Amino acid sequence: MTQLQERDEAWRELVLTARRTVTDGLVVGTSGNVSVRVGGSDGDTVLVTPTGVPYEELGPDDLVAVGLDGERRAGTLKPTSELPMHLAVYRHTEARAVVHTHAVHATAVSTLVPELPPVHYMTAALGGPVRVAPYATYGTQELAENMLLALADRTGCLLQNHGALTYGDTLSAAYDRTAQLEWMCHLWLTAHSVPGLTPSLLTGEQLREVGERLGGYGQRGAR
Ligand code: 13P
Ligand code: ZN
Repeated sequence: MTQLQERDEAWRELVLTARRTVTDGLVVGTSGNVSVRVGGSDGDTVLVTPTGVPYEELGPDDLVAVGLDGERRAGTLKPTSELPMHLAVYRHTEARAVVHTHAVHATAVSTLVPELPPVHYMTAALGGPVRVAPYATYGTQELAENMLLALADRTGCLLQNHGALTYGDTLSAAYDRTAQLEWMCHLWLTAHSVPGLTPSLLTGEQLREVGERLGGYGQRGAR
């Protein structure tokens, strides 16, 4: 596959992922954004959703590519307003894909606590208890900085009074973490809402054990 073919294929997958955030109910309208890094291990090109365009309208010609410095590489549409967050993730982590949504349970939790209490072992799939980045106006460098601090040793965080962000090696890994995080937020809100009872939480040791076990989860290593 040539680099251009690889880029077009990555864009196609990005658009499908962005559409999925809407059909799965993780965002409404043009909220949220998705990005993917292309071009091999030294690749410094990032494909991002354009700002304010309904995902079902996106076609092959709407591709938006920027460098890690934010300079436009291809396309004519304006990139997502959250470009500072996406670029900060790529500059400071091994991420190859980033998904940002306004999922309702994640956003509800972001208004209640500074960290999602570890009610389920899937906390380990995000590197440990998921922090809430303090509020800052959408699209600002300040929000990107708050997000980076909350992301330390984690593959996802909540954004106070705003939403959630996760990253991964692939678009499907980043998307899956977003879905798992939303599910855990729903779970905690449900358990926490039972009057007179308090949910039990997992210890750091229990989460570490799961973290090691998850490395071999599913068909990994199978022949
Ligand atoms: P964009 O349409 O600019 O991607 O903005 C949506 C959003 O979620 C801002 O936080
Ligand atoms: Zn947002």
